Amino acid sequence: MLENKSILLIISGGIAAYKALELIRVLKKDGANVRCILTKGGEQFITPLSVASLSGNEVYTDLWSLKDETEMGHIRLSREADLIVIAPASADLLAKMANGYANDLASTCLLAADTPVLAAPAMNHKMWDNPATQDNLKTLQSRGILFCGPETGDMACGEHGPGRLSEPEAIYTAIQDFFSYKDALKGIRAVVTSGPTYEPLDPVRYIGNRSSGKQGQAIAQALSLAGADVHLITGPVHIPPPSVNKITRVETAQEMLDASLKSLPAEIFIGAAAVCDWKTEEAAPQKLKKKSGQPPEIRFSENQDILKTISTHKKRPTLVIGFAAETENIEENALKKFTAKQCDWLLANNVSSDRQVFGGNKNHILHFQKDHKEPEDWGQMTKTDVAKKLVGRIIEQFNNGEKHDTSTILAAE
Ligand code: C5P
Repeated sequence: MLENKSILLIISGGIAAYKALELIRVLKKDGANVRCILTKGGEQFITPLSVASLSGNEVYTDLWSLKDETEMGHIRLSREADLIVIAPASADLLAKMANGYANDLASTCLLAADTPVLAAPAMNHKMWDNPATQDNLKTLQSRGILFCGPETGDMACGEHGPGRLSEPEAIYTAIQDFFSYKDALKGIRAVVTSGPTYEPLDPVRYIGNRSSGKQGQAIAQALSLAGADVHLITGPVHIPPPSVNKITRVETAQEMLDASLKSLPAEIFIGAAAVCDWKTEEAAPQKLKKKSGQPPEIRFSENQDILKTISTHKKRPTLVIGFAAETENIEENALKKFTAKQCDWLLANNVSSDRQVFGGNKNHILHFQKDHKEPEDWGQMTKTDVAKKLVGRIIEQFNNGEKHDTSTILAAE
């Protein structure tokens, strides 16, 4: 499976570094070409000699090595790999990556890399839970860095919690997943609408909604990881953008509709945006003045339904997917929408205020499909997991029913 695959393994400091030796062994056994960088911290735990012996390649440890620079060079080292794996990824190395440091060979290679990166963190549980590390994690995830683990369990220091390096077998599975998932949607064009729309009342006020854009962006990111050519059309959001081919920022439903129509033809359309149902008939050209006892009368008209327009368009994508955010009678209301909007799949979720879906990280999905009598209940999941599961299903659809397990990558949330 990994024949002809070149993996750059970065081993940073931590007691778990010894597990990297077993990882090298299984990767080599599966046919991968493994080159390794051992950081100064990593060298405190395992020796360059053991890494070189197992990988069958020279080990790189020094940014300023004249011999390594003339023979290989740090830019080539990162560029020649199909995947960079960091195991263990220390808190320090994650912090360097998140902040763009390049003060040793590992961080310089990572900054110079245009290669996908899979990090398997390992550290004390307090270090993992520290907001600094969690912020770094979010930044790196938003830039498309993949994560495997960490696991929760007993630590070498005698404490217990999240921060254990995933077992070599689990990291190996994540690497295999990456290669099988990577090109699964190559050549497929996907358009994702995401976030809220804002409808202006006057130059300073608008009506909008609480959509954060997290679910839509997670889907755009997962599609992109699967190799699709992704165009994200997003309303105003306050989260970092995902790594996708194209992002169009819009404000109103009309702008979102125009951008969606312009994005055709495409094979996949996913309407994850919370589009305002109404717009003001005419936004006031100047700021509406407050007159005591005389609140302004605002007339609304309906926004055109983007999802339905795309579903019934002459350039209709092969797979059109909608969402239904409901606060009551979820199944009944979602089913009505599914019929009305003429999409192929509909993901219904409960957004009543006690569920904290808007702005939160979790979602509970009911998956409606044409020709299926009952929706499938996906249970409570993180938005990242919903995105992965959805993309797994899309891959199945485009690859004639072949199942894809995408559960091991992006495991950190
Ligand atoms: O009707 P409702 O807004 O609940 O429908 C939700 C689904 O329809 C979502 O997929 C949303 O993106 C889409 N929608 C749309 N254009 C609208 C309203 C909703 O594409 N004007």
